[in-house]
Amino acid sequence: MTARIIDGKAIAAGLRAKVAGEVGRLSRSHGLVPGLAVVLVGNNPASEVYVGSKAKMTAEVGMRSFDHRLPASTSEEELLELIGELNADHTVHGILVQLPLPAQIDPRKVIATIDPDKDVDGFNPTNAGRLATGLFGLVPCTPLACVILAKTVHPVLSGLEAAVVGRSNVVGRPLAQLLIAESTTVTVAHTKTRDLPSVCRRADLLFTAAGQPQLVRGDWIKPGATVIDVGINRIEVAGKTRIVGDVDFAEATQVAGAITPVPGGVGPMTIACLMVNTLRAACALAGLPPPAL
Ligand code: NDP
Repeated sequence: MTARIIDGKAIAAGLRAKVAGEVGRLSRSHGLVPGLAVVLVGNNPASEVYVGSKAKMTAEVGMRSFDHRLPASTSEEELLELIGELNADHTVHGILVQLPLPAQIDPRKVIATIDPDKDVDGFNPTNAGRLATGLFGLVPCTPLACVILAKTVHPVLSGLEAAVVGRSNVVGRPLAQLLIAESTTVTVAHTKTRDLPSVCRRADLLFTAAGQPQLVRGDWIKPGATVIDVGINRIEVAGKTRIVGDVDFAEATQVAGAITPVPGGVGPMTIACLMVNTLRAACALAGLPPPAL
């Protein structure tokens, strides 16, 4: 079997086009332009790339982008003060603080200070609680991206067996919650899981978010399964740096029914989902119905 490749780049472009259409409609009919504030502390090169592409995509879909770059020496108090100002700013509908933060700043305090209704990363405990109780506030972007990508293969996920490798607050845990809400039967695996290959092999839907290059081998995959690979891992091959996922792609394509590539799968969809969340936040804050996406 040769797996169908799920083209995250193309699907993300389609989603961003829909967001742009809704942003145009909002601005014409309500004079409302959604605004996203992105805060970067320090100069981590990977974070600078992420923040740069987020700002570019925000402008491309017609939203306002507010870029806040602070020095690595910024104190926790200074950052919390900026978040307070963004919480109160009516032109800002989404606030994202790029992680990781320098050691002197507690990320949990920062995340907890963001107004839950502007928390477009969905990491605030209020939003995590809403998701866990089925209330759906703002949902973390990467898990949302994973579910949308899985639905391009199985429009109805109900009843399928899903396995999630990883239990972080950023990916694995919220993804498991979203999958429960879709009525899949979910197993969440982590480093203490006994016999990870057999957990993976049961899954009709396999989601990997372990941060371990090519951890999942071809013979861990159920024939015909859909594989969504979240991992972004840098490895050295013949003196060159390559980006690979958590799944051995060459092996997996021989067994899976459909698979996301790395890069070009979950990554671009994550940014598109950030645009979706900013649009949703702007509608909700303005008391308007959720956008039709
Ligand atoms: P974390 O390091 O926070 O979490 C990794 C999780 O995977 C942990 O729960 C850990 O288990 C589990 N794990 C690690 N190794 C193994 C193993 N050998 N077997 C089973 N479980 C394992 O990572 P994140 O969740 O933040 O990110 C995961 C990956 O996804 C990274 O590669 C990251 O770069 C990528 N990522 C990609 C995004 C995108 O947009 N495409 C966005 C966010 C992340 P335990 O809890 O027991 O330690």
